[in-house]
Amino acid sequence: MSGALDTLARRIQDAKRLTILTGAGVSAASGVPTFRGPAGLWRHHRAEDLATPEAFANNPLLVWEWYGWRREVILACRPNPAHDVIAEWSLRPGCQVLTQNVDDLHVRAGTRSLARIHGSIWELSCWEQCERGATPWRDESVPFATLPPRCPHCGGLARPAVIWFGESLRSDDLRAAFRATACDVFIAVGTSAVVYPAAGLVHEARGGGAFTVEINPEATPASAAVDLAIHTAAEVALPLVASLMKRP
Ligand code: ZN
Repeated sequence: MSGALDTLARRIQDAKRLTILTGAGVSAASGVPTFRGPAGLWRHHRAEDLATPEAFANNPLLVWEWYGWRREVILACRPNPAHDVIAEWSLRPGCQVLTQNVDDLHVRAGTRSLARIHGSIWELSCWEQCERGATPWRDESVPFATLPPRCPHCGGLARPAVIWFGESLRSDDLRAAFRATACDVFIAVGTSAVVYPAAGLVHEARGGGAFTVEINPEATPASAAVDLAIHTAAEVALPLVASLMKRP
């Protein structure tokens, strides 16, 4: 593994443009509940069944109770060493960070040039799609004064400003993400790079000549499609790479 970490350290050092795509694996060590596995269960509901427009239309109170629980858990979470290293690298000119995580732990770690392509659990937008409520607003209340929370503009139902299953990314986020694939080194970390849009981004980056890297504890079908696959947890691998870069 040390050879692979060394290779990555040198590649990052030489890169003028570095893009990092992060997913749930980066936040796992901070204690953020994942959607899969036993932690994905809440009151016998599967996360995949709650994070959809259909579930919200059916029972907005239930979905908001679940989000209220997630917000409470995430509020107590702290950025881990993976967030810290990414925040440090983000200060370099030419570095861009794309995240699928809605927890804002990258924000709390001080990350620059960050695109939160799946939105933020700390932001709300209008479910009724009124004009002013289409722009997400920040609300960090835990718990909310009233549940479900309301749109301050039209009084209709508010929703979490996150991308649910079955929804498309916002077009400006998608454009920004694909622009960021024009880079020298593209690292997908803590995300199985098989799901949309990660897979497409890795493919695009590689097609454009980037050195592509996957950092994930387990091999994924994308491992074969990248130049370098490192099967280690993000909070272990990234600090090691950072320390190798500091070596003369
Ligand atoms: Zn509204």
